[in-house]
Amino acid sequence: MSSAEVARAFRFFETNAQAITDEHIRICSIPASPFGERERAEYLSQKFSSLGLSEVEIDQEGNCLGLIAGATRSPLLVVSAHLDTVFAADTNFNVVRRDHRLLAPGIADDGCGLAALITLAQAIQNEPISTEGSILFVGTVGEEGEGNLRGVRYLLTRGRWAAKVDAFLSFDGPGVDRITNRALGSRRYRVEITGPGGHSWGDFGLPNPVHALGRAVSRLAAYPAPKDPRTTFNVGRIEGGTSVNSIPRTAMMEVDLRSASEAELRRLDAFFRRAMRDATDEENATRRAGDPELKLKIDLIGERPTGETPSDSPLVELAIESTKILGFDPRLDQSSTDSNLPISLGIPAITLGAGGTSGFSHTLDEWYDPRGRDLGLKRGLLVILGMVGLV
Ligand SMILES: [Zn+2]
Repeated sequence: MSSAEVARAFRFFETNAQAITDEHIRICSIPASPFGERERAEYLSQKFSSLGLSEVEIDQEGNCLGLIAGATRSPLLVVSAHLDTVFAADTNFNVVRRDHRLLAPGIADDGCGLAALITLAQAIQNEPISTEGSILFVGTVGEEGEGNLRGVRYLLTRGRWAAKVDAFLSFDGPGVDRITNRALGSRRYRVEITGPGGHSWGDFGLPNPVHALGRAVSRLAAYPAPKDPRTTFNVGRIEGGTSVNSIPRTAMMEVDLRSASEAELRRLDAFFRRAMRDATDEENATRRAGDPELKLKIDLIGERPTGETPSDSPLVELAIESTKILGFDPRLDQSSTDSNLPISLGIPAITLGAGGTSGFSHTLDEWYDPRGRDLGLKRGLLVILGMVGLV
């Protein structure tokens, strides 16, 4: 806090609020659906190059990378935000301003993280701030949903920086008090029930996949999920059938199971599987003798490990002190983010808010209010410089 470079960078965040928001709007206007992050990654890599980062590339998985080399290569800190959103390719990503708010799908999750990435790199380059260790800036692909952390997984297990990373920091969403140091485990499934199908009147009595799926949803919805450790389930998508007067041939749903505890997650998982089997059996039991059976298929489409970066690790302590020095009460929490993966590999990792406020995340009404963003950026800078060291 007493360094002149840090003071200059802090002023940069305060006096450039408008330009930072303009950049935020530019990057969020580029569509980035799951598995459709390429254009946004290319924009970010041009940005990294124009800021003078070295070793700028888009890796084989689609992550965008750029290095600010310090006096030495280690410690090497990854500073990341995710490029992808939860929204389909045909979504309108244009950003609308209303009063203080910016409205667009993905504007906060993780548009504000991407804006933080660019701004922090810019502050370190332009002020300039010389560091002991090095900082690898990364826009990751595949953080959301079926992306299943594929970007960060490639980066840390197969990419050319794998095994060279000493710590990992992700900016995801808004805020200045949250420090996510625990990884929330999740399992995601696609359930498909198939049958012969037929005429709604003429073939009545054949087992019906949508009816079976309804029974399955009803059983899952009755699960007595504990509040502590927090455990949740969600049927997020259903699909099936072709017309109102046809017995469908298929019904499909996608299910997300989460728990703060690995043991509770296993218990929920077992209940879920049994519920799917029982529901299918129940529907099959209604069929006439000799009619074909419904078939049940359960595919695991995502799995995120649980774990934590201990609260007394240097990275978490730095985040706690940085939060306090800016006048906020640090709040350690648990979530499902890119940090799950490094945590599972034993690399110290946390996820921080990028400042500002937001609402309606993961919906088409998502908004972000950049007021107070500078505080998130200041906290982020302090954590980064604490990890890599000032020269
Ligand atoms: Zn996110």
